[in-house]
Amino acid sequence: MNEYEAVIGLEVHAQLRTRTKIFCGCSTEFGAPPNSQVCPVCLGLPGALPVLNRQAVDYAIKAALACGCRVEPTSIFARKNYFYPDLPKGYQISQYERPLALGGGLDITTGGLRKRVGLTRIHMEEDAGKSLHEGFADSDRRTYVDFNRSGVPLIEIVSEPDMRSAAEAAEFFSRLRDILVWLGVSDGNMEEGSLRCDANVSIRPVGQVTLGTKAEVKNVNSFRYLEKALEYEIARQIDVLEGGGRVVQETRLWDTSSGRTFSRRSKGEAHDYRYFPEPDLPPLVIAEARVERVRATMPELPEARCRRFTVEYGIPEYDAGVLTQSAPLADYFEAVARAARNPKAASNWIMGELLRTINERGQTMADVPLTPAALAGLIALIDAGTISSSIAKGVFAKMYDSGRSADAIVQEEGLAQIGDEGAVSAIVAEVVKANADAVAQYHAGKRQTFGFLVGQVMKGSGGKANPTLASDLLKRALDA
Ligand SMILES: [Zn+2]
Repeated sequence: MNEYEAVIGLEVHAQLRTRTKIFCGCSTEFGAPPNSQVCPVCLGLPGALPVLNRQAVDYAIKAALACGCRVEPTSIFARKNYFYPDLPKGYQISQYERPLALGGGLDITTGGLRKRVGLTRIHMEEDAGKSLHEGFADSDRRTYVDFNRSGVPLIEIVSEPDMRSAAEAAEFFSRLRDILVWLGVSDGNMEEGSLRCDANVSIRPVGQVTLGTKAEVKNVNSFRYLEKALEYEIARQIDVLEGGGRVVQETRLWDTSSGRTFSRRSKGEAHDYRYFPEPDLPPLVIAEARVERVRATMPELPEARCRRFTVEYGIPEYDAGVLTQSAPLADYFEAVARAARNPKAASNWIMGELLRTINERGQTMADVPLTPAALAGLIALIDAGTISSSIAKGVFAKMYDSGRSADAIVQEEGLAQIGDEGAVSAIVAEVVKANADAVAQYHAGKRQTFGFLVGQVMKGSGGKANPTLASDLLKRALDA
């Protein structure tokens, strides 16, 4: 059998987070009753004229800048003509020959290897309505159409065919989502369809330069499904070639329940979209000053922030990578690190207890009731030696929902570390008496039992003894 490599390019559609649609003032809010957010423009009624949403353009520029693209001084909206029930105008307005932005790329890391995936272009377009095939009493006979989504602003981000595995494609898609959400230009909500992806995939024998025939896997809305769909598709194409057949250029759909892709239509029936410039919209002219204005509003991007965290706070690269996965998480870390003046402790608590609690409860950073100042207060108590770190975990759990400060909990519940020599000595004496065997072993040279005995002292104090003091006093008692 030959060795094959996959060649994958992605087309990602992202809904821009504007309040209103791209060419009219209708709301873009998700979940409204069907056809309650429509007007003559987005219903495609004769005579209605589109007016371009400035905010949508600024968001698209922002996305382009973050991906290192060149924003074109002039781009053109075109009509993409086709008939479909969810497209009342009979055409979709989309940028075609002259898109908003060209070039750029994203760095991805898979299996410890870093590589750059180039971008071909980013262009703007409107979304179509939504056909509802299910959920009605007469769904066996009728399809309903909801036009609330018709005219919602999208950007389409087209990559170069630079990815060589399903894992790389999933990583690229996920990286892109992180950036769009980070910028605030898209909510990245895949269940609601705000982000979806088409993948072009072909295979070729390793070493061959010309590309194989590609299939397009349409409309995948999860990273995991994208990876599975591509793994399936790559294996399928290899089987076809190894079996003496040839891959057909076609559109395929991923079926989650069977874990397979299946053919929807061959490109033989492909549409001729008869693109031509949209006569109702002037060319989109973007002055350099506008690009710079948008650039000035850009937040620090994840990669730059990650680097800064390692330098400014001296935390390991791994920590910085985890903490810059989302802007709210990174903001939270910085607030705790500054207030506690102990960045590594802040990082440990956030990556440990905080993220674990969030995951267990299915929360997001926005739901976290614990303020950065409160967490910093807890860290300060540990650093001052007032409580041990094992006690601190319990305090964290109590603080999380209650809004009480670490100080208040420690005082009210008498959790402060026992730093009093007399009190700890008394516990040490009891432990030595109750564990004669271990003590004898220690004296016989089995020094590991010391750790066990310290553990017993800590246990005897309810975890509250100062561990250093407990260890010193125990050593003194044993060696006496
Ligand atoms: Zn409208």
